[in-house]
Amino acid sequence: MAFCNTCGKEINDKAVVCVHCGCKVNSSNNSESMSKVTGILITVFLGGLGVHRFMAGKTGTGVLWLLTAGLLGIGWLVDIITVCSGSFTDVNGNVWAE
Ligand SMILES: [Zn+2]
Repeated sequence: MAFCNTCGKEINDKAVVCVHCGCKVNSSNNSESMSKVTGILITVFLGGLGVHRFMAGKTGTGVLWLLTAGLLGIGWLVDIITVCSGSFTDVNGNVWAE
């Protein structure tokens, strides 16, 4: 679910126009994606446990990261670089970049 930028009511996150106030919805402002700084901190400190992947909704690889210590550190390192470069996306395709 997303929220209308204008009236603040709950709207379908695929909605183009708010059904409550009729205003155009700016979808990029409705994403609840992780901020980049938070993402980096979580990935650096908890990334070896796959926490950042669970938070991104990527449960499958999150479990994999948890069991293999971030693919023996390699996947963890790649994720740190990806998050830092602003191209890490959550399961909805929202980029962790603010
Ligand atoms: Zn509205």
